[in-house]
Amino acid sequence: MRNTKILPRVNKYGFYEIRMESIGGFGANVAGKILAQAAIVGMGLNGANFSSYGSEKMGTPMKTYVRLTEEDTVRINSPVTEPHLVVIFHTNLIQMLPVLEGIQENGKLVVNTNKPPEEIREEAKVPGGITIYCVDAFKIAVEEKVRINTPLLGAICRATEFIDGEQVKYYITKMFEKKYPHTIEPNRKAFDRGFNEVSIMEVPDDNKYPFVEYKPYVSPLGYENAPIGGAITDFGNAYIKDLSGSRAGYVAVYYPEKCIHCGFCSFACPDFCIIFKEETDPKTGKKLMFMKGIDYKHCKGCLRCVEVCPTEALRAEIEAEVSPEKLKSVV
Ligand code: SF4
Ligand code: SF4
Repeated sequence: MRNTKILPRVNKYGFYEIRMESIGGFGANVAGKILAQAAIVGMGLNGANFSSYGSEKMGTPMKTYVRLTEEDTVRINSPVTEPHLVVIFHTNLIQMLPVLEGIQENGKLVVNTNKPPEEIREEAKVPGGITIYCVDAFKIAVEEKVRINTPLLGAICRATEFIDGEQVKYYITKMFEKKYPHTIEPNRKAFDRGFNEVSIMEVPDDNKYPFVEYKPYVSPLGYENAPIGGAITDFGNAYIKDLSGSRAGYVAVYYPEKCIHCGFCSFACPDFCIIFKEETDPKTGKKLMFMKGIDYKHCKGCLRCVEVCPTEALRAEIEAEVSPEKLKSVV
């Protein structure tokens, strides 16, 4: 093993490597940039950072890589395939992709989830010796009105132990000071909460689940068998009408008994998800428009409808805790 002063461990090329598994729109790319700036410019390490996207950005899986070294040169530009730290921005990715592929023995895993690490261990089949850090970044993000990337940066600093949190907060400030200065303080607070609100579990060395070796990805779809029109059939896209991947953990839930059918929610919704139907008013016998519910297949979870509803007939609730019955689309 090489002698290092700051990095706790490195691979045979001298790198400590991080891979973020995310969905376009969650801010993993920005998180990677901030982390790399903090470590390279702020702490004097050397390194590289980049992201890889599919053909679509928003709502589809993407990866961000951060590679750090105490050597003078960085001559590797390929994706991180054997990371010391894996960060999962959305637990749906666990079922879809081999997110733990290549993770190093005694590596670390940061997960955005409201579940305890013990459950994540089973769900993701985490091998023994890995340390899991769970943080409810969706909850922190909604409460602080930021994206999930800054609370996850806090959890990443907690997991790596060597990345200076003050440097990360400095580069959070630099990132947002020109265009979004009003978001600096909420993002810095979300970082601190992400750092402090993690639940940690060292997975026992019990051989329950094996390590998954890295295998180069070969697309099962080519020009001979791709769906007509090149439709993307992964989760979170418009073709299968599932925008749950775009919703940041909270969803608008409709309580018809409180609704006065004022229509404010319909004016506020940017995606025409509020469904009104003409019916006969039992009191007057007149034909009127009545609010019937939300088209969740197209709802992106912006919660504007909740903000304008005068009677709390629409409420923001944590999507993972809402019964599937309530989230059935009315169309
Ligand atoms: S804004 Fe609220 S009260 Fe008005 S129609 Fe929508 S859900 Fe009903
Ligand atoms: S959360 Fe946003 S997209 Fe969904 S119904 Fe409300 S306003 Fe429309």
